[in-house]
Amino acid sequence: MTKKDFYSKAEFFTPDEIFDIQKQRFINILNIIKNTKFSNFYQQKILQHNQNKLTLDNVIAKFNNCNDKADFYNLFNQLIPFTTKQDLRENYPDKLCCFDKKNYVRLHCSSGTTGNPTAIFYTKADLDKWADLMARSLFVAGVRPDDVFQNMSGYGLFTGGLGIHQGAEKLGCLTIPAGAGNSKRQIKLLQDFGVTVIHILPSYALHIAEIISEYKKHQFSNLRIAIVGAEPYSEESRQRIQNALGVKVFNNFGLSEMNGPGVGIECQQQNGIHIWEDSFIAEIINPQTCEILPNGEIGELVLTTLTREGMPILRYRTRDLTKILGNDCPCGRNHLRIDRILGRSDDMFIVRGVNIFPMQIENILMNFQQISNNYVIMLQTNPQSNLDDLHIKVEIKNEFFSEDIRQLQNLQKAIESALHDEILVRPIIELVQHNSLPKSDGKVKRVIDLRQK
Ligand code: ADP
Ligand code: ZN
Repeated sequence: MTKKDFYSKAEFFTPDEIFDIQKQRFINILNIIKNTKFSNFYQQKILQHNQNKLTLDNVIAKFNNCNDKADFYNLFNQLIPFTTKQDLRENYPDKLCCFDKKNYVRLHCSSGTTGNPTAIFYTKADLDKWADLMARSLFVAGVRPDDVFQNMSGYGLFTGGLGIHQGAEKLGCLTIPAGAGNSKRQIKLLQDFGVTVIHILPSYALHIAEIISEYKKHQFSNLRIAIVGAEPYSEESRQRIQNALGVKVFNNFGLSEMNGPGVGIECQQQNGIHIWEDSFIAEIINPQTCEILPNGEIGELVLTTLTREGMPILRYRTRDLTKILGNDCPCGRNHLRIDRILGRSDDMFIVRGVNIFPMQIENILMNFQQISNNYVIMLQTNPQSNLDDLHIKVEIKNEFFSEDIRQLQNLQKAIESALHDEILVRPIIELVQHNSLPKSDGKVKRVIDLRQK
């Protein structure tokens, strides 16, 4: 391997090296928590969790004395409590900050997709480390300093703006802060500056893919990589974006509680997201029992920050559902790979007793070439039967919409039965004209629940 094959040596740490650095960095975080005079949140939480039988010094000593990997993670599971979104909301805005306010240089908030936002504060060192992880992630996806990088996600409090931006700049790319929306301007920027890499949300990528496919492909011949994340998307959607834009799509994962983007990304294999384990400890738990699940089982992703000094967060329950695929990869990196995020535990909805994730529906819909890239799922109470109806509006591509009514009815039936086979509930499918459903520049809302509660 030549020097140019990696951004950071940490990418190619062996499993033992990863363990050593996790241990050392976790103990460092515990010391920050022990010594801070500005937040007693974890001091109390850890003591309570251990029924006041251990002091923080005892806890640190136990980790220090532990040299066996399996014992270390058992200890971690035993002594360290989970942190929930509720904890962060109750301690909003700054009760988890371990330093004096003058040490912080930026704050971000989560998008608030599922309720009140939470705030994250960063010191200068935290921002540098985050930028470095983001630059590393981009490098692993194939981005290089001579790339022209257009960031098509919203700036402001959302971490997908500045978070991605600082990584692209740190890597040395010419970085265009295009922001979200205004497709005409986005396309003009792509053309005028010979953009080679974009960062974009999947719902917006599917939208812009339709506009771009109306242009001649060669006008975008420079474009080669799309970094796509911040919301779940199916493999079928990835294929659609790749084909329409002529790019390779890399799934990029992060959440503001863990800095933002840069927690992990797919490598050239496109076979799961490598989580940067030198900076985060990742676990998958059963969301009901909180037991740790073995590799391959779907559960809730739990993450711990290992390098953020200003506001460490331990065992954060992300509510994101996925599974661990393993920690070996043909690319040679040992950082564990997780599967694409299936959805959040709170995205799941129940219709007629069946648990359904929006992603299951998207998987089926995107297999129909007649369907364009937009759809919306509506849950309604049937006034006659009082049962829940699953009503899905799907946009049909223009060339298929003008066909005769029988063909449209056949298509409607085919979609209904394909979905019925997958989710075991027969949906009501409504075929609507292309571009008739609402679009979103930011995170899209696919499910509208109109049921009488
Ligand atoms: P909010 O939780 O309010 O949306 P964030 O902006 O911090 O705030 O979003 C983080 C969340 O976005 C993650 O917890 C996850 O649900 C989702 N997300 C981020 N990256 C991906 C990805 N690559 N695939 C699927 N979901 C993602
Ligand atoms: Zn890999």
